[in-house]
Amino acid sequence: MHNAAFRTLGLDCVYVAFTVTLRALPGAVAAIRALGLRGVNVTMPLKTEIALHLERLEPAARFLQTVNTVVNCEGVLIGYSTDGPGALRALGEAGVRVDDVKVAVLGAGGAARAIAYQLVHSCSELAILNRKMENAVALAQLLRPCDGAKVSPRPLTEAALAEELVDSVLVVNATPLGMRPLEGETPVPSRLLRSDLAVFDLVYDPENTRLLTEAREVGAKTIDGISMLVHQGAESFRVWTGRNPPTSVMMQAVRGALRVRAPGLEGRAH
Ligand code: NAP
Repeated sequence: MHNAAFRTLGLDCVYVAFTVTLRALPGAVAAIRALGLRGVNVTMPLKTEIALHLERLEPAARFLQTVNTVVNCEGVLIGYSTDGPGALRALGEAGVRVDDVKVAVLGAGGAARAIAYQLVHSCSELAILNRKMENAVALAQLLRPCDGAKVSPRPLTEAALAEELVDSVLVVNATPLGMRPLEGETPVPSRLLRSDLAVFDLVYDPENTRLLTEAREVGAKTIDGISMLVHQGAESFRVWTGRNPPTSVMMQAVRGALRVRAPGLEGRAH
């Protein structure tokens, strides 16, 4: 998606992927400076560790101690976390308003943390439902210093979902339920879906999850994971280039790449 955006804007840039082990991370960070790279994305499992190697972290990255984007400003490396802002842009684009409303976030991992940190500043109430209750409690505790929403940690059970969804306007799936190889699964029983409950599924492979399909069947507004993937990438693009990327071109590139992946070719066709 980045190369498609570079081509469209006529920028003399290229985006390439490297496999970096934890042991090689200090050398890889030194290479960003030595080679004069403009920036990088960082993914699991290095998102936390890389924060220790950077000169500065912008506020969300500092709060969450997680970095997915690094920009090189003349040898000074600055870390950003663009997942949360990308998720908010995806919601905004779909016309979902999150001011002074209740939102239920399913999951308490990296993506849930990034989104909850953004939402806590605008929502009135945030329910965090997670399989391991202790991780939901830990996320609620992390968010305690933030001004804003009342945060309630809950177990990810059907009974707790029924209680929390009844007055929520949005539910966000930040678990891998629905993602390959769990594509037959859904975190929300269909009987709990309603036309006035927007459904945001962070899973992007497959594009159409069971949760999104069942939400559409009851007439709910849905937002898929590709939208967030593209918008978090677009935020990185802005950080590196100072330009607004063509998000529709990026979207097309991602959807095209995912559709090329026929069964048995996973991981090979990009
Ligand atoms: P993570 O840090 O590993 O967290 C995973 C979360 O899902 C944890 O809360 C975990 O609960 C829960 N979970 C795992 N397996 C589960 C299961 N079988 N049943 C119920 N809950 C389960 O992962 P992450 O980085 O947050 O990613 C979560 C999802 O978001 C993935 O599907 C990922 O692809 C997607 N994502 C999408 C984007 C995007 O741009 N669209 C960006 C980031 C992530 P416990 O605490 O109980 O283990």
